[in-house]
Amino acid sequence: MRYLLILILIGSFSIVNTLKAQTFTINQGVLSSDERISKVIDLVKKYIQSKDADEVKQSVWLKNELDKYDKVDLNANEFGLFWYQYYDASVLSVKHFEDSVYRTRVQFSYEDTSGVKTAFIYDFLSKQIGNDFKLINTLPYNTRNWGHKSTKYIDYVFPPEHEFNQEKADQMNNYIDSLKRIFNISEVDRITFYFTDDFDLLNRARGFTYYIREGNYTKPQGKVSGIHNIVYSGKGSELYRHEVTHLCLYPIFKNAGYLHEGIACFLSDHMGQDLDYHYRNLNDYLVQNPDLDLDTFHTFRCFDVNSNPQHVIAGLFIEIAHAYGGMRQVIRVMEAGDNYPDLNGHERYYKIIEDLYGVRQDFINEYIRKEIAERVE
Ligand SMILES: [Zn+2]
Repeated sequence: MRYLLILILIGSFSIVNTLKAQTFTINQGVLSSDERISKVIDLVKKYIQSKDADEVKQSVWLKNELDKYDKVDLNANEFGLFWYQYYDASVLSVKHFEDSVYRTRVQFSYEDTSGVKTAFIYDFLSKQIGNDFKLINTLPYNTRNWGHKSTKYIDYVFPPEHEFNQEKADQMNNYIDSLKRIFNISEVDRITFYFTDDFDLLNRARGFTYYIREGNYTKPQGKVSGIHNIVYSGKGSELYRHEVTHLCLYPIFKNAGYLHEGIACFLSDHMGQDLDYHYRNLNDYLVQNPDLDLDTFHTFRCFDVNSNPQHVIAGLFIEIAHAYGGMRQVIRVMEAGDNYPDLNGHERYYKIIEDLYGVRQDFINEYIRKEIAERVE
């Protein structure tokens, strides 16, 4: 049977892939007759083709890495542990560095109706221990000579040429204090916060030499790994309230789903702009597209590069809750998903809207259009 999979990878891009047995090939020019290079390739192959997460984890990763991270692969947040195997893999090169580290560059590709496409090119790193090789995470290695600075809640990692801005770091930590107060959070796990001026550069440091939607226009953007408590920021500064909001609030509102985007947009911003900017942008689009039906708005995807309408609409619902009953009502909305444990993500979203906003799903189109239009008058 063939499945259609939508994978959400770095940033907000998606690729469509058909699940089938993975092919694993070695490109021309790779010196695979060399014993060490051949062992390194075998290690990577074993990892990406394994079906048993725990068994393979213990045997392929360096112990230090296993001790450091519970979900040892720093890409696990995006990929699950074994997304790699949904693509055909081709080893492009193996490079040896002086400190017994080997970089295996692998291209992952898939086929659609127009031909073979590249999904991403990833650099796996292995370290030689005696005659053996073990995987290490790529990002900490690639950033080992970057600036590192520990602050109250956050360990920052940034390019060496960046001059650390303590004032912005203080603002960031103060923001976490205010979230703790508002949401009554007793403990915040330490956050590792990587930033560069350009998101593509950070992704390259993570090991993604190429990925879909690399390039185009650089926007202030970032993402988080909730399972590793990491912020990846292409915003170039110590301050990124939106992503930090996610890390602080994910653990306390476990069933809020997309409303997490709403609260992050409401409390901070979305792609560097506030909600008022996005309401105007979205309203223009809705006026030009009167037939677009928002009753199933969870399927309404990006219509330009400036915003994600899912974020803006979630932000609208949070703003409406706040206008109605302040942060107490916002918390009520964020907690409401806990009441519907048997529903899936968007069913739960529509149920929250019905129960807390009094809007049935077949009236949502009318409701959203009216609320947005009122805000841009
Ligand atoms: Zn977000």
